[in-house]
Amino acid sequence: MVQSVNGKLFPRGIMNPLAVPFGDVRRQNISIRAELDTAIARVIESGWYILGREVTAFEEEFAAYCGVAHCVGVASGAEALYLALAALGVGPGAEVITVANACMYQVAAILQVGARPVLIDVDPATHTMDPQALAAAISSRTQAIMPVHLFGRLADMSAIMAVAQRHAIPVVEDAAQAHGAWASDADGRQRKAGAWGTLACFSFYPTKNLGALGDGGALTTDDPDIADRLRRLRMYGWGRKYHTAERGGRNSRLDELQAALLRVKLRYLDAGNAARRERAGWYAQLLAGLPLRLPSDVPGHVYHLYVIESDRRDELRAHLQAVGIGCDVHYPEPAHLQPAYVQLGYRVGSLPHTEALAGRILSLPMFPELRRAEGEQVASAVIQGLSS
Ligand SMILES: *Cc1c(COP(=O)(O)O)cnc(C)c1O
Repeated sequence: MVQSVNGKLFPRGIMNPLAVPFGDVRRQNISIRAELDTAIARVIESGWYILGREVTAFEEEFAAYCGVAHCVGVASGAEALYLALAALGVGPGAEVITVANACMYQVAAILQVGARPVLIDVDPATHTMDPQALAAAISSRTQAIMPVHLFGRLADMSAIMAVAQRHAIPVVEDAAQAHGAWASDADGRQRKAGAWGTLACFSFYPTKNLGALGDGGALTTDDPDIADRLRRLRMYGWGRKYHTAERGGRNSRLDELQAALLRVKLRYLDAGNAARRERAGWYAQLLAGLPLRLPSDVPGHVYHLYVIESDRRDELRAHLQAVGIGCDVHYPEPAHLQPAYVQLGYRVGSLPHTEALAGRILSLPMFPELRRAEGEQVASAVIQGLSS
């Protein structure tokens, strides 16, 4: 039973079958358009476009926001992951332990420095690195541990840091989906993503919780020597102009324009995260009692993505697509089963939780400007998809 709306076919019973977008960064950027325009004009008029006042100011502001001593702006999140390993001196012969459910960015960075990725399973309740699997995977060659704060939820950093400290191995947080996310530390203090590991990597891709209007990234650390090394590595490895002090350097700079825009958007990050949590609350209520697994809410979760699990994921996904509800799978193919990485020696069955989750997960529309009526539309489409 279908009805036609604007030339598209929709199953009957959906009250208002207009498309709900999976994301819409335009809504946010338009709502603060005047401030963004002012920032752009300031950069144009300054005549200084690379590594200037805006980048320095953003680095100070973002370090303060995260609760760390240093921030170094770079070209992207992927670049930040590479530079983190390069700054730690990780190279050929080393192993780096990470997870396989977070879209391969980590594996790519590990291979770029010439090290070997050691992929371990996740805790199926949190989708993040299993600290017991971590403890079992440590070897004499392990030179870094790279947990991912996936979907806006911190990995179990207390447990991961305890394992790392026992073996004196540095930890690189992948915080690209977790700007402003936090968890309580052993002293009961709220500690943000970026303030747990030896260093941490952020992306400012436009759809992230803190998004630029182009590419951008940053690293945070409390270690002044690592911060200095990162500043050299992002600029060809130069210690001073035309003087190469560091191998493995490249051009990986955050530009003035993006930094100026990020300074504006940083002021809205907490409000955006609160709006995401509110929308997660809507879904929790509207989707309660269905044969689904909803994300378990913890304080400090900032819902970069709202990821549900279903035994009938593919049918549900097809239904949502048919009725115009944006949805996606983050991520359909785990890193260890990617064709480019067969030489790593993993096979189907190597990481059972990671593989099972890849077949069950579905991301629903989640962004701070998602309207209540849209959330209701998503929920009724999910309900209908499960009852068909
Ligand atoms: C987006 C993302 C990255 C890569 O960031 P880019 O800025 O797109 O290079 C790395 N890790 C995770 C977990 C991400 O979500």
